[in-house]
This record gives sequence, C-alpha cells and structure tokens, in this order.
Amino acid sequence: MTCAHCGKPLTYNELGLNKKYNGAKDGALCLGCLAQKLDVPQERLLEKIAEFLRAGCLLFVENS
Ligand SMILES: [Zn+2]
Repeated sequence: MTCAHCGKPLTYNELGLNKKYNGAKDGALCLGCLAQKLDVPQERLLEKIAEFLRAGCLLFVENS
C-alpha cells in the first residue's frame, strides 16, 4: 500500500490514521500528505497515534 498522493510506502500506523481521519475514498495518504490534507502539523497526528495506542486501539502499534 502506498500514498495516493506521493507514492511513499505506508506504515501500519499511517493506514490506521487514514481509517480514523481520511474517508479513504481518495486512497490512503502518508503522514505528511494526510497532515497537509487535514491542515494540521504532523506532530499532532503523531500525538494522536500515541493517544490511540494508550487507549488500546488495534489500528496502531508501537514503533511502526
Ligand atoms: Zn504522501
């Protein structure tokens, strides 16, 4: 699976973020492209991954 925008290979956590924040109708996006689309800093998305991890969300893993 690669980013629909820039073609970068996607990590497991990036796919998880797409399930949470991107309707996936346009294809999955990498962290950088998803941050641009959502107009938030990449750091914010990384924080969200950490939050979902702490909540036990199975869409994310440590050190993906
Ligand atoms: Zn991308």
